Amino acid sequence: MSLLPIHLLGSPVLREPSAPVAEVTAEVRRLVDDMFETMEAAEGVGLAANQVGQAVRIAVVDAEGSRIVMINPIISEASGKDREEEGCLSIPDVYGEVTRPERIVLEATGKDGAPYRLEADGLLARVIQHEIDHLDGILFLDRLSPMKRRLLVAKYRREHKEGGGLLREVARPSGRTP
Ligand SMILES: [Zn+2]
Repeated sequence: MSLLPIHLLGSPVLREPSAPVAEVTAEVRRLVDDMFETMEAAEGVGLAANQVGQAVRIAVVDAEGSRIVMINPIISEASGKDREEEGCLSIPDVYGEVTRPERIVLEATGKDGAPYRLEADGLLARVIQHEIDHLDGILFLDRLSPMKRRLLVAKYRREHKEGGGLLREVARPSGRTP
């Protein structure tokens, strides 16, 4: 397995709609493994494939004890409303409150190639929706008011000066061998 660099705000691949996965091949499973490793090293709760530079409909989630592989995911039902703070591995140090449905039904294909259905609420439902947004080229910033979005983008640009690049190398947690 290997750690993959994470694309940051401004990288075009984050705005690209991702292509459906035709078949769960060995290559897809390897990407899933690398994404889990990268997400864990970056201490994230979710990661979409375009965040590691591949515009395909794959995302991984590790939240509230659930470790989920989502290939070609869709939200088939949504209800309720919930407002909580979100952040994103592609927009470090920036957080904003996002309103989303509170309960969802996810339909996706797993790493074994089998379709599954999952009911989720709370943080898990939020992370799933955040990752599926990524696959559609949407960032959580897009779900904020225009004023709040401008403030946060300005803060991000101040703290991540030009020349910092659009890739973030993720390091393995110290004390772990590669
Ligand atoms: Zn994100």
